[in-house]
Amino acid sequence: MSSSVSAAAKASAAFAHKKELAAAAPAPTQHRAGSGRRSKPCRVRAVASPARAPRAPASTGSVKTAMTMTEKILARASERAGLEPGENVWVDVDVLMTHDVCGPGTIGIFKKEFGEDAKVWDREKVVIIPDHYIFTNDERANRNVDILRDFCMEQNIKYFYDIKDLSNFKANPDYKGVCHVALAQEGHCRPGEVLLGTDSHTCNAGAFGQFATGIGNTDAGFVLGTGKALLKVPPTIRFVLDGEMPPYLLAKDLILQIIGEISVSGATYKSMEFVGSTIESLNMEERMTLCNMVVEAGGKNGVVPADETTFKYLEGKTSVDYEPVYSDAQARFFSDYRFDVSKLEPVVAKPHSPDNRALARECKDVKIDRVYIGSCTGGKTEDFLAAAKVFLASGKKVKVPTFLVPATQKVWMDLYSLPVPGSGGKTCSQIFEEAGCDTPASPSCGACLGGPRDTYARMNEPMVCVSTTNRNFPGRMGHKEGQIYLASPYTAAASALTGYVTDPRDFLM
Ligand code: SF4
Repeated sequence: MSSSVSAAAKASAAFAHKKELAAAAPAPTQHRAGSGRRSKPCRVRAVASPARAPRAPASTGSVKTAMTMTEKILARASERAGLEPGENVWVDVDVLMTHDVCGPGTIGIFKKEFGEDAKVWDREKVVIIPDHYIFTNDERANRNVDILRDFCMEQNIKYFYDIKDLSNFKANPDYKGVCHVALAQEGHCRPGEVLLGTDSHTCNAGAFGQFATGIGNTDAGFVLGTGKALLKVPPTIRFVLDGEMPPYLLAKDLILQIIGEISVSGATYKSMEFVGSTIESLNMEERMTLCNMVVEAGGKNGVVPADETTFKYLEGKTSVDYEPVYSDAQARFFSDYRFDVSKLEPVVAKPHSPDNRALARECKDVKIDRVYIGSCTGGKTEDFLAAAKVFLASGKKVKVPTFLVPATQKVWMDLYSLPVPGSGGKTCSQIFEEAGCDTPASPSCGACLGGPRDTYARMNEPMVCVSTTNRNFPGRMGHKEGQIYLASPYTAAASALTGYVTDPRDFLM
């Protein structure tokens, strides 16, 4: 008892110290509001820097020291002309996101430390998204959403994507679904900004050339009150991916390849920057898949340089001015990895670690019980279009139960409205029905994180599942003896058609 009291006292003292430091930090300034500036994208040069090259003056902008993208974003957010990996800096936060799992804890810390009547630092920069445990009768899970709602009403939070009627998600026009995909779709992911969230996959937003990372409830409570966060600047590992993407590969194959290469601790507290001709050819949802999983390699954040694809995606989604930044030619990288994508094959991550890589064809004897297509990393519109392409090419029916959980309400609508290329006008939902899949479920995190026992598609028995999600630790999708094979939507759909882990080339070539 006494040790927990003293631990709590220490934590509180540390928190108070943080507040003092923040008060001493320079006052925040608006870097971009009203500036209307949007830099022309630099051409990405996927050339390797010599290892440990000396830092040289930057050739662009007001920045005086050559820096990587991540360093530049943090320098700007902390009003520094230059900084080095390892430095601790106070940054101004552009967006803070929380959800139904961590939001109540964050709110509790905010109220405890700043007072019952305290106001958040900026009601337009806080984004609250119920998404995890939504379609459940679990009273505690439902209560979490009620706590978010009460807080948003009290604080007049501008961006609260509420759900009141759990019986019909479509009756909730504000409800979105999985936070990371909703953040992108609602225009909260913007190049050059700092986005923090109480979820480890907040790194998803690095796809927009943004610094985005997950933080704990205590830090988030502090950000709620001050708009500031203390961050250690990570060194950057550069991944150069060149070559034409084969038609049987998706971004999930690329990131599983990389994690298999460097291991689940290979990028611990590093920034992972993705460049090269293959990256430039990826659409935004595929770039999100890459950045989403950097945390599975221990990465602090992932970034893709913003380009015309980024700017086009953002058109009509945000009215906030943003200013992308790019790594200087002389920037120093911790290390470089190069991949010739044209030579890669479809891969899976076997149980029970995202770095337990194997070629899909090497696992062809693994019998499976079900397939799950969903989550922030594998439940986007492009993921379902990819799965539909495999079902369409095969003309066959699935051999195991195949669960489809759209990430957001918009993805769900896309499944029922967008024609699948080459199908003569059929939608994904029609193709899935013809293939014998389960009807697309209500959008949410679903069984990606297991959730309460009544969660749709939760693994309540020890089964073998091929899943487009991002983690395959024991118990992740429900049962602790369940076995999860992480895979691309192509591989997941191909596996559903055979009942075994299957290389999608069996249907796509
Ligand atoms: S879909 Fe899964 S990984 Fe993504 S935020 Fe939800 S629980 Fe986390």
